[in-house]
Amino acid sequence: MTDEFTTEIYYDDDADVSTLDDETVAVLGYGSQGHAHALNLHESGVDVIVGLREGSASRDAAEADGLTVATPAEAVKQAGYISVLVPDTVQASVYENAIEPNLEAGDTLQFAHGLNIHYGQIEPPEDVDVSMVAPKSPGHLVRRNYENDEGTPGLLAVYQDTTGDAEKRALAYAKAIGCTRAGVIETNFQEEVESDLFGEQAVLCGGVTSLVKHGYETLVDAGYSPEIAYFECLNELKLIVDLMYEGGHAEMWDSVSDTAEYGGLSRGDRIVDEHVRENMEETLEEIQNGEFTREWILENQAGRPSYTQLRQAEKNHEIEEVGARLRDLFAWAEEDSPEEEDDSV
Ligand code: NAD
Ligand code: MG
Ligand code: MG
Ligand code: MG
Ligand code: MG
Repeated sequence: MTDEFTTEIYYDDDADVSTLDDETVAVLGYGSQGHAHALNLHESGVDVIVGLREGSASRDAAEADGLTVATPAEAVKQAGYISVLVPDTVQASVYENAIEPNLEAGDTLQFAHGLNIHYGQIEPPEDVDVSMVAPKSPGHLVRRNYENDEGTPGLLAVYQDTTGDAEKRALAYAKAIGCTRAGVIETNFQEEVESDLFGEQAVLCGGVTSLVKHGYETLVDAGYSPEIAYFECLNELKLIVDLMYEGGHAEMWDSVSDTAEYGGLSRGDRIVDEHVRENMEETLEEIQNGEFTREWILENQAGRPSYTQLRQAEKNHEIEEVGARLRDLFAWAEEDSPEEEDDSV
């Protein structure tokens, strides 16, 4: 290990928003990322047009925010820089119906997540640039940070560079939405997609909730009260993660008692053992060989039967009912509740 980063990191000085001076940027979608990108671009002086379907609930919001709105097809026609910020599961159909027929040579097609490109669901023509600017944060924070003159770290990748300016243009975009204020890490579509899917499945979303549920069930099944189990296995997790976020594992270990540190260091690897590591490797393999994405595409085509069932089972878990009751009884939860719902990591 060295203390050098293995990849390029870009800051404000490496980017020039005026690269986009003669350009119109179409932002397709006005959800979590879309509203933040469109407003930040607009306030950075970039000419923006928001692409939304007729009758889309987001239309009023975009117009009330002072932005120009058109259909996705019309927005792509008017723009030379197309930022695709509709949900990943509809991108292929939006591409086929609204984007592809209106793309021109030299246009930039940009994503905030590489799923559809990496797994071949969208195959752009060779005469357009294909890039990615992916803020590493939910959209409401991308917006709030920009308004507070702060930045949001992001990833940048170039999949296809026909004009020779793909990187320069993506950097200008990243600067206009505030990402180069914090730092933008260079990556590629494969690394971004596969590491993102792995992180959310194995650790952040899947791994953590499963660890919490198993811990909770172990205590409750052994006769401890559900309320105590909820606090020990779920509620305190936030305090631990905040310390890790601030100063890595070291700050967390420094802050807990010696008893907690010794117990955790001596027992942690017994709980999450080699078998879990093997499961992680299998999960990564399903991501790398496309099995996960194939399953997810078919699941959507079939109307999401398994997804709906898994969601319901998760909602029905006892820890949710106990948690809801406790959060109502105690005053701590209010200030920490997120501003908006966000289903993407
Ligand atoms: P979202 O679900 O919040 O917003 C979707 C928007 O697209 C809405 O405005 C909706 O009205 C519109 N839309 C939905 N279906 C449409 C259709 N068929 N045609 C046109 N418009 C349609 O989406 P999001 O979470 O902002 O995700 C957008 C992209 O950003 C995805 O590629 C996602 O992976 C990526 N991303 C998201 C986050 C995040 O935290 N949310 C972080 C990084 C990257
Ligand atoms: Mg155009
Ligand atoms: Mg992620
Ligand atoms: Mg304790
Ligand atoms: Mg993700």
